Amino acid sequence: MADQRINTMNNSKFRKYAHELVDWMADYFEEVEEYPVKPDVQPGDILQQLPNSAPEQSESFDSIFEDFNDTIIPGMTHWESPNFMGYFPANKSYPSVLAEMLTATLGAQCMSWLTSPAATELEEQVMVWLRKLIGMPESFTGVIQGTASTSTLCALLMAREQITDFEVNETGFPSDEQFTVYCSAETHSSIEKDVKIAGFGRRHLRKIPVDKNFAMQPKKLEQAIRSDLEDGYSPTAVVATVGTTGSTAIDPLQAIGEICTKYDVFLHVDAAYAGTALILPENRWMNEGIEHADSFVFNPHKWMFTNFDCSAFYVQDEALLVRTFEIMPEYLKTPEDQRVKNYRDWGIPLGRRFRALKLWFVLRSFGVEGLQEKIRHHISLAQNLKDKIQQHNHFEMLAPVPLNTLCFRFHPNYIDDEEKLDELNEKLLNTIQKSGELFLTHTKLGGSYTIRMVLGNTNVTETHMKKAWKLITEKANQLL
Ligand SMILES: *Cc1c(COP(=O)(O)O)cnc(C)c1O
Repeated sequence: MADQRINTMNNSKFRKYAHELVDWMADYFEEVEEYPVKPDVQPGDILQQLPNSAPEQSESFDSIFEDFNDTIIPGMTHWESPNFMGYFPANKSYPSVLAEMLTATLGAQCMSWLTSPAATELEEQVMVWLRKLIGMPESFTGVIQGTASTSTLCALLMAREQITDFEVNETGFPSDEQFTVYCSAETHSSIEKDVKIAGFGRRHLRKIPVDKNFAMQPKKLEQAIRSDLEDGYSPTAVVATVGTTGSTAIDPLQAIGEICTKYDVFLHVDAAYAGTALILPENRWMNEGIEHADSFVFNPHKWMFTNFDCSAFYVQDEALLVRTFEIMPEYLKTPEDQRVKNYRDWGIPLGRRFRALKLWFVLRSFGVEGLQEKIRHHISLAQNLKDKIQQHNHFEMLAPVPLNTLCFRFHPNYIDDEEKLDELNEKLLNTIQKSGELFLTHTKLGGSYTIRMVLGNTNVTETHMKKAWKLITEKANQLL
């Protein structure tokens, strides 16, 4: 009886709607540029269109999908659009989306080898492929985490357990010892969040000053470590950034690594965005000194065409990682435990999605050469635009451009007042956002309001770059 009343979807309907959705998806990829990149909505506009409670009776897929088109899509920011040049990209690609469909369909939990042997072994192998792809030393072993924030938290927890010989795991923080962590003033906000979560305390995070290129000054790092030692602190971990979020500055790993070795401090490298650039041999200088690092993270879910979430976390000491996280309740014991990798012990969550599949699809579908070609193209687009900006009388670059992130501002030569320039550039960014034709974001560098533009979307071309620059200069002229 109950079954007859409940009108949920059946397999033949699923088949029909799935085909329709695939058509919608292909249309979306084709037409995404026609949507405003940022929707014209006010806070609450979407919320007020949504009922207060879930429906009592089953609703038809047609009506759900109609609301998706009428209510949700008009309120979306289109990260897939090649006119999206803000933050860092969250790229996807056809093979990646196809793999996600399979992952959702299999719905496997990949917490132990037994819960999905192929998922575990594929993850192990694609992490080897990826390590080779970016030229990391063989001594690193990889695991997929959800985000760089989580990967860095894992690194800090490893550092914590290493310095206390696993005492914090057992009895909590000792009352007579205080641990310090170091990063640069340009480090991503997730480091501070992770330092709080890991129990070090935000006040024990030292933000080391940067040089004129916004990279960490190793001398200042060593001074900070020494002064903490003199004051009785225990320096525990350094987080170096390869490609800061503000301007993709590259912290000097070699010098930082030598300091970490000298003072026996754990070194974690955050290459969340720029790690993808290591696919190109000409960019490997960024990772010189990586052999000193204890761990390294980069996000294929940013620039490497693999949709969110997929963060590649590499460690030198697999045993330290596993011992930091290992748990063994009776209900999770399996006969193979001694012979296999159980990835639940390689990070924070127990349940894990089958994320290796999309990475495998992407790596095979693009091939190394295909990935290199795309990344090189993005970098050359940015270098081209950098030249145009430098040649323009009323614009100036505010940071070097090692990769494909441009930090610049509008600076008419008769305006000197820094406050006015900040206002002018904020206004310029707002008018650009409002146009719906281009999406950029901002940061502050050396105290100045800075417009940030990233040429890294999967399908961005020279035409998009030129159109964007034309729009920026036109909007800037209109402000005068
Ligand atoms: C984006 C970014 C992060 C955070 O990445 P999530 O995967 O969103 O946590 C951390 N560090 C740097 C340098 C980043 O650019």
